[in-house]
Amino acid sequence: MPDCLFCKIVRKEIPANEVLRDEYVVAFRDLNPQAPTHVLVVPTLHADHLSDFAAKADGAHITRFLQAAAELGARFGPNGYRVVMNEGPEAGQTVHHLHAHVLAGRRMSWPPG
Ligand code: 5GP
Ligand code: ZN
Repeated sequence: MPDCLFCKIVRKEIPANEVLRDEYVVAFRDLNPQAPTHVLVVPTLHADHLSDFAAKADGAHITRFLQAAAELGARFGPNGYRVVMNEGPEAGQTVHHLHAHVLAGRRMSWPPG
């Protein structure tokens, strides 16, 4: 996926404010934060969205993706955090490389907008 924005961040062709990087995931601060802490967890394997990732990623990628979200939530949201994945137009997905938003640092409302 040479033209994918998040693949370019994974390959370090575009700069990002990274908070975690390993073989399976890269996490970095969102450009337009919606909470005091707003980071995106991105699998190094390109998948368009969660359904695509679930269909093609192996267990190690899926496990690490969830572990990384939990690690970042614990690091940045000791009093609680929210993990969001948007898929498709009705959910408002704008970048078509799977990412989990980890939001923390303020009280969240429910239901989400
Ligand atoms: P989505 O709407 O697809 O769930 O989330 C995409 C997110 O990526 C948005 O929160 C948006 O602010 C963020 N974003 C878009 N382009 C960039 C970028 O170039 N760098 C960073 N760090 N975040 C981006
Ligand atoms: Zn990609």
